[in-house]
Amino acid sequence: MDDTTFAEWSKKAAEWGAAYRASLRDRPVRAQTAPGGIAAQIPAAPPEKGESMEAIFADFERIILPGMTHWQHPRFFAYFPANAAPVSVVAEYLVTAMAAQCMLWQTSPAATELETRVLDWLRQAIGLPEGFAGVIQDSASSATLSAVLVMRERALAWNGNKAGLGANPRLRIYSSDQVHTSIDRAIWVSGIGEDNLVRIPVGGEKRSMDCAALEAAILRDKAAGYVPAGVITCTGGTSTGACDDIGAVVKVAHAHGLYVHVDAAWAGAAMICEEFRSLWAGVEAADSVVFNPHKWLGAQFDCSAHFIRAPDDLVRTLAIKPEYLKTHGRDGIINYSEWTVPLGRRFRALKLWFLLRFHGLEGLKGMIRDHVAWAEKLAERLRRHDGFEVVTNPVLSLFSFRHLGSGDLDAHNLALVNAINDDGRIYLTQTRVDGRIAIRFQAGQFDMTENDADTAFEVITEIAKSLDRIA
Ligand SMILES: *Cc1c(COP(=O)(O)O)cnc(C)c1O
Repeated sequence: MDDTTFAEWSKKAAEWGAAYRASLRDRPVRAQTAPGGIAAQIPAAPPEKGESMEAIFADFERIILPGMTHWQHPRFFAYFPANAAPVSVVAEYLVTAMAAQCMLWQTSPAATELETRVLDWLRQAIGLPEGFAGVIQDSASSATLSAVLVMRERALAWNGNKAGLGANPRLRIYSSDQVHTSIDRAIWVSGIGEDNLVRIPVGGEKRSMDCAALEAAILRDKAAGYVPAGVITCTGGTSTGACDDIGAVVKVAHAHGLYVHVDAAWAGAAMICEEFRSLWAGVEAADSVVFNPHKWLGAQFDCSAHFIRAPDDLVRTLAIKPEYLKTHGRDGIINYSEWTVPLGRRFRALKLWFLLRFHGLEGLKGMIRDHVAWAEKLAERLRRHDGFEVVTNPVLSLFSFRHLGSGDLDAHNLALVNAINDDGRIYLTQTRVDGRIAIRFQAGQFDMTENDADTAFEVITEIAKSLDRIA
């Protein structure tokens, strides 16, 4: 592609993106396609001859777009948000154009030094004390895996990478059953094994880990010859927003020499607002904390902020230093690839820098406070509406509810969520609470307005009523 054509299509892509964003309210949130419908329109064999950009772009609009679920839609209330604020998209255009590999300081000093700086901005923004060092990981899953690997190496006196797990005693990791599935996978991939992930029961409205049970489990495991290595806690669990009492967990864990990781992938963004920090009280004593600016905060995926107390432990666990990767002549510089499992890394700090400067903390706090207020208001309206119950109260902007229709309530609520998503005006997902289906609602999309929350109320009550009529 020559320079002129590249410029022309880059401009077209940016203009298309802006028009697309402006059109979102008129599109169904969830893709309305059947499995295989998109693949059937794409040739089974690769093209022998190059094609025109006009043809490729036309097929993008004709074939691909109808198969997209619109995550930037203001009425996306499913899962958790994956906000890409326009300013972060602009930063990503620049990153994409430069396409640098930022694995070492010398492979792009600006990327490394900006990452150090903006992660420290974020650390201050969410109220973590000095002494936490930050690194951007590609996902919270990777951050949690890194933390589990550090737990493993610390507990095995740094002998796990070398001798393998077969040559070492069995490790134990503790968490509640409210943590994200990425924790299970970290336990599998680290070789520790699911049987050694000890689930601690939860209690209370916040569904937090029972710390007396945690301590009893650690003591029982020690007596049985296991080596307890760490505890994984959550602030804002995926299903209903469960929050462990971080301070109490850390107290027990540290008394036994265990490493504590806090998964606040979604809820961490809200900690830029001082009034929400009680949800993770005690976090300052944790060893490792992850939150995803690529969820609620508005930095385009991928951008996970991982803060650690002792980065040397992380580097000792993950750094490989072959001769050709050494940065000669400069001591004390950071090579962030030594802090993460993958070697190659995109320049992810630029979008955070653009985002934080353009909106300021004040702008981002305002957005989060609005979302929390609108979710609380919607929960209250549903609670007072005939035939609905709020199953779990709002934690920040997440709550779950159920329609008390006729017949089997699980089947009825699954049918309701499907009918709502087929309608397309809003998008919701379901979860299980104490074994029974509940419908999740979270407010979090960057461009959402209070009107969109009102639309959610109308759609939910209207479709529930029409299902009742059919039944
Ligand atoms: C979204 C989420 C994750 C997974 O995040 P990725 O960045 O997609 O790996 C983990 N834990 C919690 C609590 C989450 O909300």
